Amino acid sequence: MTDNSNTLNLTSLEFDNRFVRELPGDPETNNGRRQVLSSCYSHVKPASVKAPQLVAYSREVAASLGLSEQDCKSELFTQVFSGNTLLEKMKPHAQCYGGHQFGNWAGQLGDGRAINLAEVINQQDHRHILQLKGAGETPYSRTADGLAVLRSSVREFLCSEAMFHLGIPTTRALSLVTTGEHVVRDMFYDGRPKHEPGAIVCRVAPSFLRFGSYEIFAARGDINTLRQLVDYTIRTDFPHLGEPSVDVYLDWFNEVCVRTADMIVHWMRVGFVHGVLNTDNMSILGLTIDYGPYGWLEGYDPNWTPNTTDASGRRYRFGNQSQIAQWNLFQLANALYPLIEQAEPLRDIINNYTDLYTEKWQIMRSQKLGLKEFVAKVDNKLNTELHEVLQLAETDMTIFYRKLADMNTDTLQQTDDELIAPLMDAYYSPEALTRDDKIRICNWLRHYQQRVDQDGTPDNIRRQAMNAVNPKYVLRNYIAQLATDKAEQGDSSLVNELLELLRRPYDEQVEMEHFAAKRPEWARHRAGCSMLSCSS
Ligand code: AMP
Ligand code: MG
Repeated sequence: MTDNSNTLNLTSLEFDNRFVRELPGDPETNNGRRQVLSSCYSHVKPASVKAPQLVAYSREVAASLGLSEQDCKSELFTQVFSGNTLLEKMKPHAQCYGGHQFGNWAGQLGDGRAINLAEVINQQDHRHILQLKGAGETPYSRTADGLAVLRSSVREFLCSEAMFHLGIPTTRALSLVTTGEHVVRDMFYDGRPKHEPGAIVCRVAPSFLRFGSYEIFAARGDINTLRQLVDYTIRTDFPHLGEPSVDVYLDWFNEVCVRTADMIVHWMRVGFVHGVLNTDNMSILGLTIDYGPYGWLEGYDPNWTPNTTDASGRRYRFGNQSQIAQWNLFQLANALYPLIEQAEPLRDIINNYTDLYTEKWQIMRSQKLGLKEFVAKVDNKLNTELHEVLQLAETDMTIFYRKLADMNTDTLQQTDDELIAPLMDAYYSPEALTRDDKIRICNWLRHYQQRVDQDGTPDNIRRQAMNAVNPKYVLRNYIAQLATDKAEQGDSSLVNELLELLRRPYDEQVEMEHFAAKRPEWARHRAGCSMLSCSS
């Protein structure tokens, strides 16, 4: 580690803390839990930690902040991003927000373990907020400790960066440090608490505002603060819409709907299940935010959710994410109503979401299949059949699309066995496929071949197009767990290897093939691999 702070860019970052400067803050400065009224944030200080150690950092995020490798490897970096040292002009604060959790209004939530350090203006004049997750108590910590454990921090760190490289809107992660302290967690709320290593991720985004950030003021009838926050958001993050007015509020809400639809379509493309789509976990910028009990589809199953806390209702299951996003947008519309006072245009925008999403989804699905465009007359049937075929037996969605890309479509004379052979890798128990299943799969494959033939796209071109939207590498649930297991032993090599792998998720990377394999049987029921809870 080097520690010559004179030569570090870290000490000369340009901060412009607009959020705390322009919005009303909490006059109280103690960290005690309380209801915070008429304020968008409270001033807080990150807790000091005993022995912080850097596990990993993202070089792309560092570069976008103007930080060099020397910066990231400095002692100062570890001290700052563990919360031990504040740089001059940092204005640490926790935001106040509310939210609907599992369909019910939950009142004030807020940054219970997230602390925004500062807003960096980079060389390109872009705003990046630095936020520590797991850096100690705030007035919003309610009954919890404000801390985070290594397992959930590894998951958040790796998945943020994986999503970015998949081309999916997301908050980013600059760094992952361990604190040298232990945190007590009852992982499955079953009365068996354990000591786990504590960790802190520094998240980075242009804004961390959520739907719940607006809902809290509407719920309290605090229209004045609501208006200030909405106007602030439009001026800061949506300046292209013009100066705030009723029409601009509507345009803004419409843009939030479009961005949300885009984000969910991306999730459906890669098989990502967020796991807790409460309104406090919906970013106003349409970014994937708050990586908790998320998971990646292994076997294609629209009813699957990784979140054990949601096991009974499966509200946040894979196939329900678009409807839930719309439900959440409806809550946001309710919160904005006092500023607009016209239900009709808000209702029109919400209703339009269904068509908007469907159209985006259809385009995405056609791209996954390497088709030039979506042709409703033929492709609705193709899609419905595929949806059924993928559920005949446990079929790994990620592998299926990569193998489909490899298929030759100019060989209509193949026998069923020849036709299906390249796809066999995608099945968890190929021997479980019945004769009837195979016939249905082959019928679909022939239907697909004809459809590709209609387009006239040569196989090599189609393959290239498909492999650019169907990743080979995603952060499979068990792989993140393996990285955590090692990191808990003090070995950060797998975290860093995965970070590197997931920088190029669409590339073959043949030497990394083992990370593209199906989930091994041992991981099917192991905690952390297939079962996750909100305890993190
Ligand atoms: P989540 O389910 O992670 O989105 O969190 C919901 C709410 O609980 C947010 O207000 C979080 O800040 C808060 N929260 C979650 N975990 C903790 C924790 N360990 N300490 C304090 N607050 C927490
Ligand atoms: Mg949250």
